[in-house]
Amino acid sequence: MSIVFNSYSATPYKSIFPLKPISFKGQKEDDEFYMKKTIQLAESAVDNGQGPIASIIVKDGKIIGQGFNEIRKRKNPTAHAEMVAIEDACNKASSMKPLQGATIYTNCQPCPMCLGALYWSKIGRIVYANSCDDTENYGFDDKKMFADFKKPEQWREIKSVQVLREEGFNPLNKWQAESSSQAAKRLRQIQAANSNSFIPKEKNVA
Ligand SMILES: [Zn+2]
Repeated sequence: MSIVFNSYSATPYKSIFPLKPISFKGQKEDDEFYMKKTIQLAESAVDNGQGPIASIIVKDGKIIGQGFNEIRKRKNPTAHAEMVAIEDACNKASSMKPLQGATIYTNCQPCPMCLGALYWSKIGRIVYANSCDDTENYGFDDKKMFADFKKPEQWREIKSVQVLREEGFNPLNKWQAESSSQAAKRLRQIQAANSNSFIPKEKNVA
């Protein structure tokens, strides 16, 4: 029996903090509306010879990105629907963090790669129709991957080795020094701008 995850209740768990109840009024209707569109897009992906997964990204009531699985088309095993939709949103965006606070609708629960990408993109919510338990029956390995990541590194399916740790710090330290000198420069600029704004008006009069 699959468990349907419900995040619409205002208090999904007993919080130790006195949180204000969050209103989800209309949220379920919106989610079902966009999920229907996502499922239709996934079906059209199958019609086009691609995998059966699609994603739509919505922010402030507008679709800002969408895509479907393009693994076969691009011959790239990482061209998952979520990645294609993120790329689409970023290509159309003018800001650095276009996905911040947005919702992604994806008919299948994100795999570890896409979940990581969604964390990096600062997405606000993830809404899915079929869980990793559901998709396992269709031959998807997501559940196995999540289980593998929980194991200690040396017992995982793909082996990792660590070499040249000390030399590896060089680019990190260079980047950190560069960032702090830029931050110091920005701080000096802000301080200079602020100190100018505090000059009494009479002093500006020639
Ligand atoms: Zn994925």
